[in-house]
Amino acid sequence: MLRPIVMLGAVGILVASAVGFSTPGSLGVNPLALLKQLPEVDSEFNQNFRDDFIGNTNQMRVGFAVDPLKSDAEIQDYITTFLEENATPENIELNEVFDSLQENFPGAQYLAANLVSAVSRDELLAQLTSWDELAHPEFHEASTSIVKAGRRLVALSVLSRRIPRFSVELANRGGGRFFNSCPHCNSVHALDLDKKSKTLILSCPDCELPYDVLAADCNGEMRRANDFLTGFQVPGVGLIDKNGNKKENVLKIWKQVADRCTYEHDQSDFNESEVWKTSDDTWLQKQGDCEDSSILLVDSLISAGFDARVAIGWNGNIGQHAWVVVNIEGEQFVIESTIQENPTLADLVPVKDASPFYRPEQLFDRQYLYFQNDAPDKVAVDYFADSAWKGIK
Ligand SMILES: [Zn+2]
Repeated sequence: MLRPIVMLGAVGILVASAVGFSTPGSLGVNPLALLKQLPEVDSEFNQNFRDDFIGNTNQMRVGFAVDPLKSDAEIQDYITTFLEENATPENIELNEVFDSLQENFPGAQYLAANLVSAVSRDELLAQLTSWDELAHPEFHEASTSIVKAGRRLVALSVLSRRIPRFSVELANRGGGRFFNSCPHCNSVHALDLDKKSKTLILSCPDCELPYDVLAADCNGEMRRANDFLTGFQVPGVGLIDKNGNKKENVLKIWKQVADRCTYEHDQSDFNESEVWKTSDDTWLQKQGDCEDSSILLVDSLISAGFDARVAIGWNGNIGQHAWVVVNIEGEQFVIESTIQENPTLADLVPVKDASPFYRPEQLFDRQYLYFQNDAPDKVAVDYFADSAWKGIK
């Protein structure tokens, strides 16, 4: 029977929302097309038209107390090519435009498009500036391109707001909205990062699988779970006889960690409770809770040449917990890293004999985060099988 069962700081499950697109704008058609000499539609014409269009639009937006639109050079170039390569631009389906933009600009979370045609520049400008979506505050950029189609001018205009791809570095510069691609099903989705969250498990809204584990460190900086393992080595690890009894070697390292670090209950200081410590921090501060001592022990075991992983998951009726698994010569053992007093070989429990209360949900080592594969019966009895765990770097 494994001893203390303790709480891991509350894990905030962040389910990202699906990327939303606004409905396509209306397709304006003027039935009274007049036969008139069309202007030369070159890049200068396009630039002048865009300047007028943005100028008029932003005047109107100021009136609505909405921030002005800017141009987006990449989307601008893209729709210009899109329009030029289309043999019948007047017949472009807006859904086609959306699909293509979505594929090429996954961060373009808000999109609206409008296709209008007219027989003169003035008429084109009048049609385009009467577009309802132009007043929408969610749009930050406008891109417009014009081509000639027979005796008419055709304008494709796209309103957009692009959000950055999620990265730990950007998340640390401030919360907000990001997009991400799910490594399991490749779906692109948006996620809102609340800066107050200290521990985050990112999950995909489409396949519902988790794909990233992040936590705030002692300095309040977000790190990926793996980055809490800093390559720590317990003192004197070099003195361990590599040819000696492997279980005893594991025990020697565990004892050093247990002797050094006092268990610090999560509830004692709520504000600090969700902060994870790197292996160095736990060693230096001589205290930590379940994930801190597990991180320190796993890092130390890896430094000594063992294959070890931190397991986070659910423990019985108690709640979220973190513990250690180590592979010793092909046999897997569960280590309850919060055991304080003089752990013995009897505390090194083979996974097959461990309490069924241990239900791992994610694992990590220095390089990989491991998420459950489609073998839910296997995860609690085999912490190292590829068939049970999918590793993501
Ligand atoms: Zn997915």
